[in-house]
Amino acid sequence: MEVAKRNEEIRKMRRPRFTLRQIGNKFGITSERVRQILLRMRRKYEQCRRHGVLYFGTCRHCINEKSYKKKLRDMGPEIKAEIARLAVKGRTGEMVQERNLLIQHLVEKKGFSFSRVAQLLHRSHSTISKTYKRFGARRLRGSTAQ
Ligand SMILES: [Zn+2]
Repeated sequence: MEVAKRNEEIRKMRRPRFTLRQIGNKFGITSERVRQILLRMRRKYEQCRRHGVLYFGTCRHCINEKSYKKKLRDMGPEIKAEIARLAVKGRTGEMVQERNLLIQHLVEKKGFSFSRVAQLLHRSHSTISKTYKRFGARRLRGSTAQ
């Protein structure tokens, strides 16, 4: 059964006073799990200050960013291939996000100038500096929110 559908049924069953154990038995899960699900469903979706999206628990974009940043930090010479991959014109959300993080990484961790990053990513100096500043400002707002 689809999780959302199941959870909704659990909530409905809870209303006419089934015990947690009775509900759990119906779905083959523990009463503790039922309690957790009910608690979770009462919680609200929140909006990520950094990405502006609604999330439940932790923002998916924040998770992706964190893991991509780690990936960049752990990269050795293969970072050249990564730069080449993101030097293309691709504009999907994920690529844009990764490119922004790569720019930030090259400037802050590697000490590259905007001109050098621009050359590597086949973009103009002003595109790189604008992207970096906009992304950095967003990052700053995000960090004060946490
Ligand atoms: Zn986020």
